[in-house]
Amino acid sequence: MTETHKDPFAAAASFTAGVYGTGLRPVRAERLAEAARRLLQAAGSEASEAAVVADHLVEANLRGHDSHGVGMLAMYMPAIAAGLLRPNRHATVIGRSGPFLAVGGDSGYGQVIAREATELAIEQARQDGLAVLSLRDSHHIGRVGSYGEQCSGAGMVMLAFVNVVTRPAVAPHDGTRPRLGTNPICIAVPATQATPALILDFATSAVAVGKCRVAMGKGQEMAPGLLLDQQGDPTRDPGVMFQDPSGALLPLGGHKGFGLALMCDVLAGALASAMPGTPSHQDSGRVMNNMFAIVFDPARGGNAQWAADLDELVAYVRDTPTAPGAEAIQMPGEPETRTRRQRLADGIPLDGATLAMLDSLGRERGLALGDLLA
Ligand code: NAD
Repeated sequence: MTETHKDPFAAAASFTAGVYGTGLRPVRAERLAEAARRLLQAAGSEASEAAVVADHLVEANLRGHDSHGVGMLAMYMPAIAAGLLRPNRHATVIGRSGPFLAVGGDSGYGQVIAREATELAIEQARQDGLAVLSLRDSHHIGRVGSYGEQCSGAGMVMLAFVNVVTRPAVAPHDGTRPRLGTNPICIAVPATQATPALILDFATSAVAVGKCRVAMGKGQEMAPGLLLDQQGDPTRDPGVMFQDPSGALLPLGGHKGFGLALMCDVLAGALASAMPGTPSHQDSGRVMNNMFAIVFDPARGGNAQWAADLDELVAYVRDTPTAPGAEAIQMPGEPETRTRRQRLADGIPLDGATLAMLDSLGRERGLALGDLLA
């Protein structure tokens, strides 16, 4: 690390490629997961927790979301040292009322807490047809689509709204300073015989903050129309997101993305968790996530032939003439499935800054990870 930062966003973006150079190097998924597991255990996680978190992070890399892959460890490690992220915690049911299920996370690893909370919601939906889950007080839950996949794999539909409580990153529509998190939304529908599971999963900002970190690591500018600098002027420099005061991401699709981001915080923050993204809850040393999710059994949703109707809809939409340069119409989740196949075969292309960061975090904990990352 070039210097010590309290802010985990800045910490994660502070690494330079050094001996790893500026190109991309492919690393096998299983070797990357082993490196992540060793780091997590050295930072206090039991073996089972280290495996769940490492697998989640590497799965994000495999699916092409490097913003939520192993690079997140640079944010987690300082948060653990500061006592803001607590290893070896589990999801606890704190209340049930009719379909409502409230689960607490005790500031534990979100990858563990949200997975366990989603499992509780699935169990309830199996029994009653429906669970309305309020997950509160969890550290960063990572790629929200993984919980969508957990639900779709169990034959359930999931609608998830997540708030991100840390220093704000996203300007409201017509605003010039950040006020909101990148508040992601996920809608997941199980596979039918003809259609793979549909996994819609994205941040309500024009891009995720982690994509700015990845661009910095690669020495790239961002596309136009995504970022404002500290004065509220348009910029392509991803570095503005890691300065104090920071610049701002624009919301996805102007007023529409702003509205979605706000509603994520209304549902997950104000209604479900008592942790809206306001200054009294924002601590830049940690990234908390609260999630409001509806999980239900589609077989009990009122249309016995939902799968046939879904297949007909998807086939109709797929059968659209494509724009110049486009190969085919893809359904939500398909780009990730393709990237996963490719990265399992060819390795995960990691930039030098991320490799140097893993190496450095390892050395700080007496681990030699160089061979795993070579
Ligand atoms: P993104 O902009 O890459 O959009 C991803 C979604 O769009 C997926 O559903 C994907 O299948 C679909 N998609 C992409 N290309 C497509 C195409 N050509 N045709 C059809 N569909 C297509 O995602 P993002 O906004 O950068 O978010 C990345 C990840 O970051 C997500 O997994 C999200 O959950 C995660 N995230 C997490 C947090 C948190 O605090 N935990 C915050 C923000 C984002």
